[in-house]
Amino acid sequence: MREIWAAPSGQPFVLAGSGTLAMDCAGANLVEPGDRVLVLSTGVFGDRFEDLLSRYGAEVDVIRAPVGETIDFEAVEAALASGDYKLMTATHVDTSTGVRVDAKRFGALGREHDLFTVLDGVCSVAGEEIKQEEWGLDVVLTASQKAIGVPPGLALLVVSQRVLCAWGKRQTRVANYYADWGKWLPIMASYEKRVPSYFGTPAVNLVCALDVSLGQILAEGMEERFERHRRFGRACRRAIAALGLGQVPTADEHAANTLTAPRYPKGVSGPDLLPRIREAGAILAGGLHPEIRSKYFRIGHMGATRPGDLLATVGAIEAGLHACGHSFEPGRGVSAAQSILFG
Ligand code: PMP
Repeated sequence: MREIWAAPSGQPFVLAGSGTLAMDCAGANLVEPGDRVLVLSTGVFGDRFEDLLSRYGAEVDVIRAPVGETIDFEAVEAALASGDYKLMTATHVDTSTGVRVDAKRFGALGREHDLFTVLDGVCSVAGEEIKQEEWGLDVVLTASQKAIGVPPGLALLVVSQRVLCAWGKRQTRVANYYADWGKWLPIMASYEKRVPSYFGTPAVNLVCALDVSLGQILAEGMEERFERHRRFGRACRRAIAALGLGQVPTADEHAANTLTAPRYPKGVSGPDLLPRIREAGAILAGGLHPEIRSKYFRIGHMGATRPGDLLATVGAIEAGLHACGHSFEPGRGVSAAQSILFG
């Protein structure tokens, strides 16, 4: 995990639970009642932090990007200049919008203003480029089921020494029993020494799967893996554009490389299209963001995706669109994707 997160001195945590537990774990350990927190939200998962952190007594301010747009860092700088914040959170890729936030700038701002940064990397770790230590990020969290490529059920965090040091000086007890770093630190240390030790039963089957997957990720090489995701992201977005569909992110520069969020073309709805795509062989997700839920769908292409998976998916989308009466030149999407994949 330290290599994959690029955090050689970070402290990894592996807990049985989903990505929401990873968020909860960060919140429970970092927030004390009355702390001021700035949440940068680009969708549903950013908003989730507002609700979550306030339960631990944080006073939360939110900078919320309009749907499809990324964070305006000038607004963040202005807020940081006027507020006495302890912590700032961002969602690297918000899965509800397909928008990517500049995680490097986020980390740099945290350091500049001497506050702690939490990056929700559920839809980015091991897919989008992250250099946790170099970028000054204090907590980078994810879950097992996305670009890590393991079945759902593990919450994964890497925590900086800086934040652990501050955590050690808390005035109040961590209000979440299961997620308390104090319970898990000795367990993680024992795991590294291969010494048995117990606090809560680990999800051993998933930990074995994680071991295999982390090995595969490192064997591919991080830079190669980031580049593959960039290429796949570009190929998928080009394919969607070639079929005449718009996308939720308002600019290519802040569109995620781990998933694509196309808008339905005029006259085509989700209940018409998605089952037809499924019949043609690809299972895609519907919309999630409440403001635009019925207007778009989502294509995941992170982790162990191969070129054939992407081409088959674009082919299935073409078949679905054709069956719905959308007019386009057959093969244009596949051809646009191929031209990027061939480099
Ligand atoms: N953050 C992001 C960016 C996510 O995409 C998700 C899940 N889709 C979560 C947090 C929550 O993770 P989980 O569903 O595993 O609890």
